[in-house]
Amino acid sequence: MQTLPLRHLAADSVPSRGRLHPEPAPAGRTEFQRDRDRIVHATAFRRLLYKTQVFINHEGDLYRTRLTHSLEVAQIARSVARRLGLQEDLTEAICLAHDLGHTPFGHAGQHALNRALRQREPHGEGFEHNLQSLRVVDELERRYADFNGLNLTFETREGILKHCSTARAARLGPVAERFILGGSPSLEAQLANIADEVAYNHHDLDDGLRSGLIDFDAVMSVPLVAQTHQRVLARWPRIASDRVVPEMIRTMINDQVDDLVAASLARVRASGVASLAEVRAHRDPLMGFGLAVGEGVRELKAFLLEQLYRHPRVRAMTDAAEQVMDDLFQAFANEASGPHALRDAADRLASLTDREAMAEHRRRFSQESSPWPATPAY
Ligand code: MG
Repeated sequence: MQTLPLRHLAADSVPSRGRLHPEPAPAGRTEFQRDRDRIVHATAFRRLLYKTQVFINHEGDLYRTRLTHSLEVAQIARSVARRLGLQEDLTEAICLAHDLGHTPFGHAGQHALNRALRQREPHGEGFEHNLQSLRVVDELERRYADFNGLNLTFETREGILKHCSTARAARLGPVAERFILGGSPSLEAQLANIADEVAYNHHDLDDGLRSGLIDFDAVMSVPLVAQTHQRVLARWPRIASDRVVPEMIRTMINDQVDDLVAASLARVRASGVASLAEVRAHRDPLMGFGLAVGEGVRELKAFLLEQLYRHPRVRAMTDAAEQVMDDLFQAFANEASGPHALRDAADRLASLTDREAMAEHRRRFSQESSPWPATPAY
């Protein structure tokens, strides 16, 4: 039996492309371990604890936040990396950093900030959380005497940047060159991207069921979920009712990890790709699900979009969140000055946690203008 089958394609199969500001090699750790450690110590990382995934932070302490989400992404990706022989520290670093650029209030916050920026600068760059994650690690963190940001390796930065227009790519330089020349990032970066999806599909399903926003009978219309439910009941006919959903979630994640390992390996072998350079030159990602599981996951995502993300009660909260973001951006932009005033205001607003943004809004605007429902909606 072959162990560590993709070891020869891992990011450390060739020397790192290095850091923007050259530094001596770390003693006693790999370069990617140092990246991971710097991310864990970053201010933006700690703030993820109070940033929303789907549920606004004050709605309850049992729901996922961006911090627990990032930890779950890292856990899933790391177990796949270990089985395939990919670089685990790099995989973990990318996962832990991938959401550092998120605004308060999840996608509602990003949407509002992007819209506000574009209203003022129709030809400007707007706001995109993925680019902001790179901006946080490249420029915004202020922790080191010699440089702005965390001065991470090329490979971690390449993995954080998941999408990018060609105009922006030209400005960002080598880290974004694949958006101009075509090609793919490292297998570790591809893996982190898929683990992100696996994590949020399942924890949103879990949180959705616990909150009562998703109806258990309704979710049985999703074949992947119904089949998993049947398997759990067949294996544990007398299972306590409160253990059913956790067993289902765990089973689905395990199945998808197994499928991801097998299907990615098959795809790499069929591609003939034999080096990291060839991974990067390959047009399409090599990491991914097989056909059947991929289809099952698409059906689950479609269900979550319809039943959870567009649920009237989630929408009521996201409408309120957009109002808070609009009001605060106006206020911050009016206070900022200089050639980068709007970007500075956007950076300041994006860095806030949910509860900081709410408190700031309460401080600046009358209670009567508060867009929040009087009590949390659920
Ligand atoms: Mg994510």
